Parts: sequence; structure tokens; C-alpha cells
Amino acid sequence: MSSQSKYPTSLFSSNLTFTGENENSGVLAIAGCSGEKLVKEFGSPLFVIDQADFFLRAKSWRQVLDTSFGGGQLYYAAKSFICVEVAKWLKELKLGLDVCSAGELAVALAADFPASDIEFHGNNKSESEITTAIKAGVGTIVIDSFDEITRVSDIAKSLNKTQKVYLRLTPGIDAHTHEFISTAHEDVKFGFSIASGAANEAIKKCMEQSSLNLTGIHCHIGSQIFEVDGFKAAAQRLVAVLATFRDKYSKELAELNIGGGYGIAYTKDESAISPDVVIPAIASVIKDECAKAKLALPRISIEPGRAIVGPTTTTLYLVGTTKSVKLDNGSERRYISVDGGMSENIRPALYGAVYSAFLANRTSTAKSISSRVVGKHCETGDILISEINLPSDIKAGDLLAIPATGAYGRSMASNYNHISRPAVITVINGTARVILRRENEQDLLNLDVDQPPRQIS
Ligand SMILES: *Cc1c(COP(=O)(O)O)cnc(C)c1O
Repeated sequence: MSSQSKYPTSLFSSNLTFTGENENSGVLAIAGCSGEKLVKEFGSPLFVIDQADFFLRAKSWRQVLDTSFGGGQLYYAAKSFICVEVAKWLKELKLGLDVCSAGELAVALAADFPASDIEFHGNNKSESEITTAIKAGVGTIVIDSFDEITRVSDIAKSLNKTQKVYLRLTPGIDAHTHEFISTAHEDVKFGFSIASGAANEAIKKCMEQSSLNLTGIHCHIGSQIFEVDGFKAAAQRLVAVLATFRDKYSKELAELNIGGGYGIAYTKDESAISPDVVIPAIASVIKDECAKAKLALPRISIEPGRAIVGPTTTTLYLVGTTKSVKLDNGSERRYISVDGGMSENIRPALYGAVYSAFLANRTSTAKSISSRVVGKHCETGDILISEINLPSDIKAGDLLAIPATGAYGRSMASNYNHISRPAVITVINGTARVILRRENEQDLLNLDVDQPPRQIS
């Protein structure tokens, strides 16, 4: 691994170039490929991954883990975005993979991703998923509930295997956005509460199962977090659990997984949390706490998803229609409709996520005016950007780019209104390649069947 893998300072895809005097219009290229040509070649909407940027971000997280802890593992969170090609990249990068369904596991295995480097998550894994995971030789199953302790143990026993497991703990940190709140009880569906004693009870139950090999504990305190304090507080509480374990069982748990959730920028007003800041801060807490408790430093793992893939990707859209409306306060708002919407980016509608956009096929000298970027779905709430200043002359046929759409965009995409999910391409050094093709109408019709009724009662 290169020793100069610094996390890119650019908020969006590092190889995105934009020529124009304005900051909201110009001619866009990514890794030397013109946005307009990409859409001509591959259609619109289009997810464009800057492949070199992906590698740079993944390597820089991996590297700061190495320098802060002298090793450890990075499990890329598949749910942020996965396909066979990306799983191959992760294998090439020698990273681990965090999956939370049989489907995500199937993608990893289709890429010949080493099962031993996979971690299986989820608060309600089915028996069939657990069986598939154990049979495939998945490295670690992260157990999330008391039901699951017996379920995983029984299935491992029936397969004559000893399964390595972690327990997912809830350290009582509420770290949603820019702040974190420390709470005594944990009103969430995930994991075993430390404060209530459930965590220690789960450890005890796990230790009683001969088919389970408990090697560590895990927590994931939330997503899109910008403050290091929440991570530090969580780390401290997990080390306390490790100390309690050592006192009770006279041996040490060797692994500690502190999850993902590192925040990225979606607009130029925001900035990402840097791995070079957050990981050393967590490391110093863990080292101090372990030294105080006279514990050996556990092997640390982290699970970033968004912070690796999010900034690498830009969505390109064609503008279809525009209109202006008068608001109650007398001002005007322009609606810009693009050829996608909530089906390939549900985040604004789902939880008010904020994005930015640029006119990407020409420089405009027109005045910037209050605009709203909307999709083509039959929902008033099908809004991609609620309020943004864009050139007043944007018109049908123009190209609009929304950056930082790599995480939880395509992976949360739906077929609402029977709109096909867009293609994902990667660009590098002036070349482009489809890695997930666009769905077509036949794909949409493939599940419709015409069967005779079967007797059930
Ligand atoms: C979602 C999730 C992640 C990744 O979160 P990001 O915000 O994408 O970094 C990591 N671990 C677990 C358990 C998760 O559920």
C-alpha cells in the first residue's frame, strides 16, 4: 500500500473538473470524461464513480488505521453501495466487507471475495441467512439479540462448526448529526444495552455455547457523524466492557469493532470528518483506557461505508421541464424537473438530506435564482434539492450534476412508478465502463407471472 494515501481534501469526486466562471455552471468532466458524452453514451440518469478516488479514500482509511493501531481491519459497509465490481476492488485492496443480508453476501461471493474477511450484521437474520453464512465460512457473525445467540449456536452445532462471533452492544450514545447525546437507556432495535446489563448477560450466554467463539464486541453509534466526541465516549464504554470481561473470565477479548458513521460533505458549506483526525482521537482513548485497565490493546476494526464511496460518485441528469411559481411572499421559485428523482435518491424525501447541484454542460452568465430540483415521480415530495440558487436560463436538454451521491443512492433505489434503476459506470483516465447496467422494461416485467391457482386450504 502506498505510503502517501492521504484522504482527498476535495469534498466531492477528486477528479471532477469543472470549467466555468460561476460555481454553479460550467463544463463538467470526471477523470477526463465529459459529462455530456457520458450521458450520450450510457443514458441518463447516470451514476458516475471516480474509480481512482474510491481507491484513494479506501486506502487512506485503511492506512490511518494501520498508523494509529499498528494494524486492524477495515470492513467496508456493503449497504452503502455494493456490486460485483466494487467487491472485486475491495478484495484487491485487501479490505474486509460488512454485509447484512443474504443478497449482499451473494454479491460478495460472486466476486470471489474471501468469506473469512466478511462480517455478517443485522438485527433479524433469518435461519436461512445464518445457515448460508456459516456454510460459506463467513469470518464473523455479529450477534444482535438473545434470540440470535441460540439461533446461531444451534445452526453452527447442526453444521458441526464453531462460529466466530461478536456481540453488538449499544453504548448509550446518540450521535446522529453534529452533536452526540449520552443516554442511560437505549431505545433502538439494535444490539444489547450496556447500561441495562443486557450486554454482560449476552456475553455470559455466548460463553456457555460451545459452538460459538466470542472474540470481540462491536458498536455502531449512528451515521453521518461529524464530532469525534461520540466515538470517543463509545470507545471508552466498550473498553470498560472488555475490562469487566477480563475480571470475570480471567482472559481477554481480543477484538473491538467501533463501527462506521463518519460524516461527509454534501454541499460546499459542509466538510467531512477526516480519518486523520477521528481515528487517532479514538486510538488515544482506547490506548489510555486499556492502559488504565491493564488490558492488552485489542485488534481494532472499523466499518466506514459512506466516507469511502459517498464522495466518489456524481449523478448526471437531463433537465426535462422547468416552470416558475409565485410564492406567497411575492418571490418566485423555479422548478427544474430531471429525468429521475426519489427512485434513485430517496434520501432527501426520506430524511431531509441536502445536496448541491451544478449546470454541467455549459457556462451560464444568467442570474442565479431560487430553484427547486425535482424528479419525475407522482409525488409532491419527490424533491432532490428543496432550495438552491441555479442559473435562471437552465432549460430542457441541459445537463445537471449532483455530487456526493455514491452512498445510499443506488443502494436504496426503487422501481417506484415502474421507472428503471439507472446504470452505474466507473471512469478512470479518460475511459468509462458500465459496472451495473441500466434496468430495461423487460427487467421490470420479469416478475409478473400468470399462474393457475393452487389449493392451499
Ligand atoms: C450502516 C452501517 C455502517 C456504515 O455506516 P456509514 O455511515 O456508511 O459509515 C457500519 N456498520 C454498521 C453496523 C452499519 O449498520
